[in-house]
Amino acid sequence: MSGYSKKDDLLFLPLGGCGEIGMNLNLYCCDGKWLMVDLGMTFAGENLPGIELIFPDPAFIVGKRRDLVGLVLTHGHEDHIGAVPYLWPQLGCPIYATPFTAELVRRKLVERNLLDTADIREMELGASFEVGPFGISYISMAHSIAEGTALRIETRHGIIFHTGDWKLDEEAIVGTPASGEELSALGDEGVLAMIGDSTNVFNTRASGSETAVAKSLKKIIGQKTGRVVVTTFASNVARLETVGRIAGQTGRRLALLGRSMRRIHEAAKATGYLRDFPEILDEKRMMDVPRDKLLVLTTGCQGEPRAALNRIAAGDFRSLTLSPDDTVIFSSKIIPGNEHPIGALINRLVLDDVEVITEHDAFVHVSGHPGQPELRDMYGWIRPQIAIPVHGEARHIKRHAELAKEVGVPRTLRPLNGDVIRLAPDGPQLVDQVPAGRLVLDGEKVLSIASEPIAERRRMLFAGHLGVSLALNGRGKLIVPAALVARGIPGWAEGCALEEDVRRTIGETLAGLGRRNLLDDLVVEEAVRVAVRRILRQDTGKKPVTVVRVLRITDLK
Ligand SMILES: [Zn+2]
Ligand SMILES: [Zn+2]
Repeated sequence: MSGYSKKDDLLFLPLGGCGEIGMNLNLYCCDGKWLMVDLGMTFAGENLPGIELIFPDPAFIVGKRRDLVGLVLTHGHEDHIGAVPYLWPQLGCPIYATPFTAELVRRKLVERNLLDTADIREMELGASFEVGPFGISYISMAHSIAEGTALRIETRHGIIFHTGDWKLDEEAIVGTPASGEELSALGDEGVLAMIGDSTNVFNTRASGSETAVAKSLKKIIGQKTGRVVVTTFASNVARLETVGRIAGQTGRRLALLGRSMRRIHEAAKATGYLRDFPEILDEKRMMDVPRDKLLVLTTGCQGEPRAALNRIAAGDFRSLTLSPDDTVIFSSKIIPGNEHPIGALINRLVLDDVEVITEHDAFVHVSGHPGQPELRDMYGWIRPQIAIPVHGEARHIKRHAELAKEVGVPRTLRPLNGDVIRLAPDGPQLVDQVPAGRLVLDGEKVLSIASEPIAERRRMLFAGHLGVSLALNGRGKLIVPAALVARGIPGWAEGCALEEDVRRTIGETLAGLGRRNLLDDLVVEEAVRVAVRRILRQDTGKKPVTVVRVLRITDLK
């Protein structure tokens, strides 16, 4: 744990989100008190079989929970709030959020029976409030979810501008983002440090406006004569609003598919969004509506196997079948890493002669993160002394730091998770490093990614498993042949040569152990395990997880 505790320093410490896009967890320290900004998660990939979610390991701040004055959430995306229901019980601090974000968090806490214990303090958009030594103001930003916010964090050392996820959109469909003048006025106050979103730093163009996408989508959908299915991220309330409007404008009935789509729709309605949204068509009635009168909005834009769109494409969704000349519009980005599942999904649709439109074919999506022109504008307005890029992989953070230099920011630092960075006085300086690991949600349990069950499952996945049970009498002789249970070992079948090799090895190993060793269960187990593993490796080229158990039956002579 950190030995660094200079009370006169203003510190920044990311525990997640630096060196990766996902699971953001940022900490600030002033006068020995800690403020947490966001507590997100990442979805696990194929390299972690059986694991759904990954969280940043909060152990460092759990150890200082008495000095943790609050958790401030910038917006409701999973990479910013997803770990709250799993990790908050270890933290116990008040949670600050704007109404829509608070609503999403409450719905998550209900699922874990935590709503009554969690202290959620709902803040109006634009609210200013004190959290320990930190004076916080929510600043509305455009983003691909309702209520994206940046934070102005005032400390006795100076002002921090924490951008959250943002873009510039003068024609935002949901909410009223801060204008250039307002951000420039903030810059006039003198900003010590800007900690900011690096996601789209390689984009040389601005992200584009939701209103422009709305116009383009309306035009495309207006020309279609078959069913139209639009898929997007459920949390993009502006896109929901757009598709709802288009349903009305084009005389189509709108159906919503997918649990998260319905959940976000409810949360948005409950917090005053989607006021003029059309009545939702019962999904069981989708096939009753004439083809040119149906518009479906669904989850599954990343090719998620269990999402509605994937099941529709697989012909596995009872209430909707697509026919030739129906259209599926991916109003979404292909997130790096998801190319394969999305490609497979598109192939299935194309094989059924369904028309597929993605962001490569037409203007059907804009990003929620700033491209280079927007970053330049923002630095021009905020004019920070220090730029610390976050929310990016190493390559994004490096490019963002270069860009900050190019636009004249005097000092930058490229952080990694676990870096304790002094912002003031005399910052930025890397002054310490604390452990910053990962946790995984394994079924209902939250474990370290480095824990033995996870490591063992990976080993079993890669090489299989062999269980060996040895029933020995009091003198260490096998009473019955060893019981072998093999799982996933290449070439293994009952009575195969490999099994014979293993049995022979067991016999030779027992014969080679001295009389005294044969009386010690642990010695026998380890000797047989090592020998069996060696022969398995020799025969298969793999190292199956091998477990040997001795059952000692002493009253047999
Ligand atoms: Zn994010
Ligand atoms: Zn976001």
